Amino acid sequence: MRGVVFLGNRQVGLREFPDPSPGPGEVVLAIKASGMCGSDLKFYRPAPGEAQRALGLGDVSEPLIGGHEPCGVVAAVGPGVPEAEARVGMRVMDHHYCGCGGCPHCRVGWSQLCRAGFVGYGVTAHGAHADYMTVPARTLVPLPDELSFATGAAISCGTGTAYNALRRMNLSGRDTLAVFGQGPVGLSAVQLATAMGARVIALDVTKERLAFAKELGADVALDPSADDPIEALKQLTHGEGVDLALDCSGAEAARTAAIRATRTWGTVCFVGEGGSVTIDVSRDMIRKQLTVIGSWTFSSVIQGECARFVADRKIDVDRLFTQRWTLDQATEAYRLFDTQTTGKGVFLL
Ligand SMILES: [Zn+2]
Ligand SMILES: [Zn+2]
Repeated sequence: MRGVVFLGNRQVGLREFPDPSPGPGEVVLAIKASGMCGSDLKFYRPAPGEAQRALGLGDVSEPLIGGHEPCGVVAAVGPGVPEAEARVGMRVMDHHYCGCGGCPHCRVGWSQLCRAGFVGYGVTAHGAHADYMTVPARTLVPLPDELSFATGAAISCGTGTAYNALRRMNLSGRDTLAVFGQGPVGLSAVQLATAMGARVIALDVTKERLAFAKELGADVALDPSADDPIEALKQLTHGEGVDLALDCSGAEAARTAAIRATRTWGTVCFVGEGGSVTIDVSRDMIRKQLTVIGSWTFSSVIQGECARFVADRKIDVDRLFTQRWTLDQATEAYRLFDTQTTGKGVFLL
């Protein structure tokens, strides 16, 4: 089989690997769609293995197949897998983490919080930019019939991450939400929050991404490099500030603006990874009764819930994909994605 490996220093390569067969408890997926996530750039850009070490994920000795948004069809089932968990031909997404399976976090589907540590497919083990991928059957999440494989791929990281963040913020149709950063997670948050009835204000420094956010339902699109975002958000909310702010950028200036532009009793959620932020705790947080939360991806249970929500509300998640690629176009696919001016890319097989 073929697989796209991250070689470090902005290089990818298409390599041949032996065709996999499933061990006990495992399945082999025939990949149909493998999404490109903003966090893939963290592994694409630096020297080999550097990102995994920086994120505390340990040493990676050989180039790994990338891609942590796996969606496809069960091609082979290993010994001991119950039929309820996996059957050949089943359309599935993969919750791309594996933990011990027995600790309190694993048992409720949050295997990335496993006390014993976790394997991340496409990050610390081979991922989905390949013809096939081997995973434990318990990591599978059924893909509703109404959804395309590409939509399933998006839900397997970017869109699922946005869904879980909105869920944790208790977003309602009464709220005005500011979304900082219109990469794949931010654009998904715009699309989902609009479907949930909220008024959404999208912020990004890229014209193309702001225009796209408007198409996906944003009421207003703001460029924080042109207008002071705190002032602009207050003006759009009668001087109060937004009810909720979501940072998908990971940029310190955006995090600060999110905190400063959120109203008294409001909630700010960080999903953009890395870096830091400095705030004046009394002025920016305590005296505003502000809630600040972090949100990291989603559980396998919430992944299934997100898929159901997208199907039932007929949300066109496929629209997030502005580029569709084959595996042999991986070099061009990542070169373009690295410009951070596009929507989402996906490999289709
Ligand atoms: Zn565990
Ligand atoms: Zn991701």
